[in-house]
Amino acid sequence: MAGEPQADCLFCKIVAGEVPATIVRETETVVAFRDINPQAPTHVLVIPRAHYRDAAALAAAEPQLVADVVREAGEVAAEEKVHGAGYRIVFNTGTGAGQTVFHAHAHLLGGRGLAWPPG
Ligand code: IMP
Repeated sequence: MAGEPQADCLFCKIVAGEVPATIVRETETVVAFRDINPQAPTHVLVIPRAHYRDAAALAAAEPQLVADVVREAGEVAAEEKVHGAGYRIVFNTGTGAGQTVFHAHAHLLGGRGLAWPPG
């Protein structure tokens, strides 16, 4: 069923505590944890507890959860003190855009200069 945990999903396992992660923030709806392969001094993944394959599917099914994810990314940016210099929130969507984990997630990147356009 939409939003239900998937047995083969790495991020569902992190939500369930079955796979360890360095969690920096948790709410009733969202979990934020450090990326295992950081691409910036601050690189945190912010995910809904509910399972949707990508941000667009999440938005279509539960738009409030997108707001929760983005708000919490902003809270993490403030906690990590990267909000002043600016930061990036990225939703890779689809294999061609670099999505490798098919549980919706925002990358919060900050703490260094961020070029545009991204690669
Ligand atoms: P995507 O490529 O946009 O789907 O992002 C998936 C991210 O998950 C990548 O940046 C990976 O480095 C990260 N990742 C994969 N496995 C783990 C893990 O076990 N803990 C934390 N981050 C992970």
